Amino acid sequence: MRITYACPACHATTSIDGIETRESLDCAACGAVLPIPADAIAGRGTPQARLQRCMVCPSLELFVRKDFPQRLGLAIVVAGLAASCVAWANRELVATFGILFGTALLDVTLFFLMPDCLSCYRCGTRYSGPGVTTPGGSPAAGGREFGGFDLETHEKHRQLVARTKRLASDPTHP
Ligand SMILES: [Zn+2]
Ligand SMILES: [Zn+2]
Repeated sequence: MRITYACPACHATTSIDGIETRESLDCAACGAVLPIPADAIAGRGTPQARLQRCMVCPSLELFVRKDFPQRLGLAIVVAGLAASCVAWANRELVATFGILFGTALLDVTLFFLMPDCLSCYRCGTRYSGPGVTTPGGSPAAGGREFGGFDLETHEKHRQLVARTKRLASDPTHP
């Protein structure tokens, strides 16, 4: 399993592989050590190891999303638009719509081919690779199951983070 998180100490983005066998997360930029909570992974050391909660913040709420690089998706759309504009300028009507349709199809296909990953509502940490989701979608034995993105949960965490920041900057006025 791989983690991609923003270091709470220096805010640098760090990726670490094989977190199911590690005791702590070490920031490559500032060296800050973040101990991995003992209950973060169920079945540690077994092929059934499953993520149970976020390792960076105390949140238990994660959501399933596609491990799709947004920049790649955007690059495909932009390239498709540019190519179709060229075709349009040359009055190649069939080519114009062919290119547009082709890029949309490519984006959708790539999206479905990409594996799932888990993302933390509160701190945005991402978890990918084996152990983040159950193959075939059936619930893991005794493990927590995470659903798709839920706006209500997202809003709850956003407000929680905002309140924590306010408290930290001005402890006298909660
Ligand atoms: Zn750091
Ligand atoms: Zn988190």
